[in-house]
Amino acid sequence: MLKYSNRPTVVATFISSLLSLQLGAPSNQALAQGQTRTQAQGQAQVQRQVQGNGQARPPIQPLAPAPILTAAQQAAKYKEQGEAAYEAKNFALAVSCYSRALSLLPHDAANSLADLYYVRAMAHDVTGQFERGTADWQAARDNYAKALLGNKAGVNVEFATSYRDELNELVHWRATQSPSSPDYCDSIHCKRLAPGSVLKVFISQSKKTGFSPELRTFIFQAMRLWCQFPGSPIRMELWPTQYDSNIIVQRATADDPMNIGSAGQTTSNGRELVSKSFVNLSAPSYDEKDMTPRAKEQLFNLTLHETGHALGIDGHSPSGLDVMYFKSPLIKLSDRDANTIRKIYQ
Ligand SMILES: [Zn+2]
Repeated sequence: MLKYSNRPTVVATFISSLLSLQLGAPSNQALAQGQTRTQAQGQAQVQRQVQGNGQARPPIQPLAPAPILTAAQQAAKYKEQGEAAYEAKNFALAVSCYSRALSLLPHDAANSLADLYYVRAMAHDVTGQFERGTADWQAARDNYAKALLGNKAGVNVEFATSYRDELNELVHWRATQSPSSPDYCDSIHCKRLAPGSVLKVFISQSKKTGFSPELRTFIFQAMRLWCQFPGSPIRMELWPTQYDSNIIVQRATADDPMNIGSAGQTTSNGRELVSKSFVNLSAPSYDEKDMTPRAKEQLFNLTLHETGHALGIDGHSPSGLDVMYFKSPLIKLSDRDANTIRKIYQ
């Protein structure tokens, strides 16, 4: 399963405003005191005027009154900019924005700190910074726990509780994982589908739960990446009927509880041999004409990840550099993804 729910879709135009902020940024100290860029620069200009010729000129006022942002508002702004950078796949910039936001928040802002550590952990993971990611997942868990103990004003108790518990499991699991071994078979439960044969893939054409011919082709392209690396044991063909296919792909509807993306297997012996797999994919519409390039890329990424589950990867890779990482943004397989599927089907 893959979740996009905590990746706000902020437009990438924030990036340019962020870059301009960085180029002329006031010191962190000025920001921490609640000053805006315009105010800090205005004061610096006045100082230069006095120091230049030894005589004070009439003070130069800032061009326009700028709103005074509190540290919390400034932190929220940096978080938004970090999320925009993440969406644009500028992960280093995202980390930098999140770090700035974290430096502005007081220690007792536990819920906001937890949210920030959470998103920075993902950014660390997808750049291969596993240890830093682990430290941030721990900090996110601890701050959700702290938020639940203190004054709960502004805290979504249900959300914070489930994230505290999920992150607790994640942190313990990561402590036993190696993100750099040749494959991640030790991190997952390995299953396999109809070994040795060509897998029949049925992609629904239904207007309600299926895809247009163009999107079916697009989805099958993503699925076939699992067949196209050297030595891949997987073969697939599109199949016209559902009842005798191996993998059934459908569009998740809005009332589906798993409306982002999910995959499931029906095992014939209750354990490792899969008789049929199901893949549910979220997409804005039946047709691609209403989809942005970013939405199409997300569908490609989701299909690639969920197909890995459908083929028998029951679990996730601990490394953010693999498609089977639980929040992977990738649109191609890593060597470890390829090695893992080779090993499962050898
Ligand atoms: Zn998954």
